[in-house]
Amino acid sequence: MTDTPAPHYPFLDLGRVNQPFMGDLQQAALRVVRSGRYIGGEEVERLESELAALHQAPFAVAVANGLDALRLSLRAAVITGRLREGDKVMVPANTYIASILAITDAGLAPLLVDPDEHTMCLTGEIVAGHITPDVKALMPVHLYGRVAWDTLMAETAMRHDLWVIEDGAQSIGATAAVPGLYSSRRSAALGHAGALSFYPTKNVGALGDAGAVITHDPELARTVRALANYGCDRRYHNILQGFNSRLDPIQAAMLRVKLHYLESINADRFALATAYHNTIDNPRVTKPVMSGSVTDCVWHQYVIGCEHRDELRAYLAAHGVETDIHYPIPPHMQPCYCDLPHGSLPITESLAGRIISLPITPGCTSVSDAAAISQIINQFNP
Ligand SMILES: *Cc1c(COP(=O)(O)O)cnc(C)c1O
Repeated sequence: MTDTPAPHYPFLDLGRVNQPFMGDLQQAALRVVRSGRYIGGEEVERLESELAALHQAPFAVAVANGLDALRLSLRAAVITGRLREGDKVMVPANTYIASILAITDAGLAPLLVDPDEHTMCLTGEIVAGHITPDVKALMPVHLYGRVAWDTLMAETAMRHDLWVIEDGAQSIGATAAVPGLYSSRRSAALGHAGALSFYPTKNVGALGDAGAVITHDPELARTVRALANYGCDRRYHNILQGFNSRLDPIQAAMLRVKLHYLESINADRFALATAYHNTIDNPRVTKPVMSGSVTDCVWHQYVIGCEHRDELRAYLAAHGVETDIHYPIPPHMQPCYCDLPHGSLPITESLAGRIISLPITPGCTSVSDAAAISQIINQFNP
């Protein structure tokens, strides 16, 4: 008898994720190398048009990464007078630190609020419950790919004249409906500005850093574009003290290949989430709220909860299942934010100790892998 090696389930293997696109990526890379245009130009302009069309928004501005998409939008909001330094920006406390870094970088004050325990996102009710006269902006974070937007949130933002910037780093392609206003609008195009990240692990990942701002506001688009290119409105004419946050054409070309497959990438993620949802059946494990359609949530992560999280994680590792935690330490508990004022955040702090992300990337994890991982989870009995 020969021993068959125990199966191994990697959390993420980007080489495998990009394998199906290899031919197209090579062609696109060659096109850029041969073009002789290595900053800006047609490749970046085309990506911007394709992103604007996808979001049914008039403007998409490509920038160097997702953090810059957020921070340049917020800086542009201050420069154009939409916000003033020191204004409060309501933001979920259980986000990736980039959301908070962007707010403080622009001289604004994050108002950290606990998310809904079940969806792990803000809801309209939560937002309405935290409005004060100092709150001038709202940053919904579509965490794990779930759109944090509902009728009450849209109404609350309108009633209180909040400037809405979405952190859509994890939610490309996801949509929301507001009955009476729109039946389907893409996340990142719901508010005044929306930030996308194309970090390699995101649903649509570049082969390096990349990001974009989506907006309906021409002055904001112009200001972000100027800020990202040394603050100039034309060559050697600087209207702002800007930055260098341009997107490379080589990354734009890679992204144009992958953007083409957005709907199929997100459909594959939905199938993986469905497999987990239908197969995990362990009373010690809480599952994320299942989405009704392929676009309510684009399943950037499938995050379960468990009181015995560290034991479950070690057990899964022993059974060949790699997992991750998004995120183990909330921003307000990070050393860099030891002085950040905040109220009590029991849900955020409890989630950080309970959550585990399971493998959910198409090309790396198959539906049968997800079913097998679920069966392993079902056997967990600490
Ligand atoms: C990835 C991410 C960002 C930052 O994007 P980068 O491209 O890595 O700078 C911001 N917010 C959230 C929620 C993210 O997941």
